[in-house]
Amino acid sequence: MKSIRNFSFDTKCVHAGTKEDQYGSVITPIYQVSTFKFKNAAHGARLFSGEEDGYIYTRMRNPTIEALEDSIAILEGGAKALACSSGMAASHTLIATLLNNGDHVICSESVYGPTLTLLQNIMSRFGIESTFVDTSNSENVKNALKPNTKLVFVETPGNPTLVISDLQQIADLAHNHRAKLAVDNTFMSPVLQNPFKFGADYIIHSLTKFLNGHADVVGGVIVLKEQSDFEKFRKSLNQFGGVLEPFNSFLVHRGIKTLKIRMERHCQNAQKIAEYLESHKQVEWVSFPGLPSHPQYELAKKQMYGPGGMISFELKNGLEAGKILMDNVRIWQLAVSLGGVESLIQHPASMTHASMGKEAREKASITDGLVRLSIGIEDAGELIEGLEEGFSKI
Ligand SMILES: *Cc1c(COP(=O)(O)O)cnc(C)c1O
Repeated sequence: MKSIRNFSFDTKCVHAGTKEDQYGSVITPIYQVSTFKFKNAAHGARLFSGEEDGYIYTRMRNPTIEALEDSIAILEGGAKALACSSGMAASHTLIATLLNNGDHVICSESVYGPTLTLLQNIMSRFGIESTFVDTSNSENVKNALKPNTKLVFVETPGNPTLVISDLQQIADLAHNHRAKLAVDNTFMSPVLQNPFKFGADYIIHSLTKFLNGHADVVGGVIVLKEQSDFEKFRKSLNQFGGVLEPFNSFLVHRGIKTLKIRMERHCQNAQKIAEYLESHKQVEWVSFPGLPSHPQYELAKKQMYGPGGMISFELKNGLEAGKILMDNVRIWQLAVSLGGVESLIQHPASMTHASMGKEAREKASITDGLVRLSIGIEDAGELIEGLEEGFSKI
């Protein structure tokens, strides 16, 4: 029989990971249970020694969590996956499992903010040193390699600029140096980019975003390319303790069933909205991998199956225009996060980064007119009308 790993992506989204149970359930139910009973003392001893396979305690293993993990491992083409309580728990567990005191990490400078501060402010206290470079130019990675570099951590497309890094080139550079490559694939989901195909060793996702897709769960995952890494990671996640709950695992697994069709719609809508914005007289520039004006448009076509659902753009009239747009858009909701079926809009200078001050914002490439959109699956024409309502008031 054909293994689920050899089916198309559409079929994998619906079926991958689902466990058979004694009742013939069509989906994997929620095993909302913290602990599993032993048949007798000898059975308990066998489970603990690893002599027999089975469930002991949910922080160690749980069928609902495992169903989700198997589905994501299959979608990414990895050996195994480990579901974590958030995307940040996944990044922390990955870095703290792989690296030792004295090791060095190279990380994309255009990276999710808390990933940067995790490395810069917390891992540094444990003797793990990091260098942040513009990984969209692979030369910068090459120049940052040091004898103690053990990990290159790339986010592509990067947050919030949507610059794209060449995974194949960076994987080769890392491997020639005996370092590992980890990729944050949150913005793409396994539908639009498969980092293992280009040589990545580890993938992380914030499940909170496209994989769950419905703005009702915070979660993360580490995907391992090699089975041989599994025991080490399983043990360290068990000891760090940041595991995903069974109920949240169930919700994400349910979300994944529609991942492929959602991603197609996110991409189609985003393409139309990016084209509308690029021709808009109030817009200075648009960053979207599906526009020929994107600096890595050719690389995007080579490495990604679609442009994704995220757009950044700059308003001509800066801070004031941004505030007016935020207060007058329709349908669009003002919120952080991304990847849900509902469209979100965010103006960092007047909202999330307002307290930072203009100078510090500029250092972090957050200009006054920068707006970030997470494109949902609503009607594209109505989304454009909803934006135009805001633009018309500027
Ligand atoms: C949201 C996000 C994270 C962190 O995920 P949480 O689930 O919020 O902890 C990491 N990387 C990227 C690219 C993200 O968008």
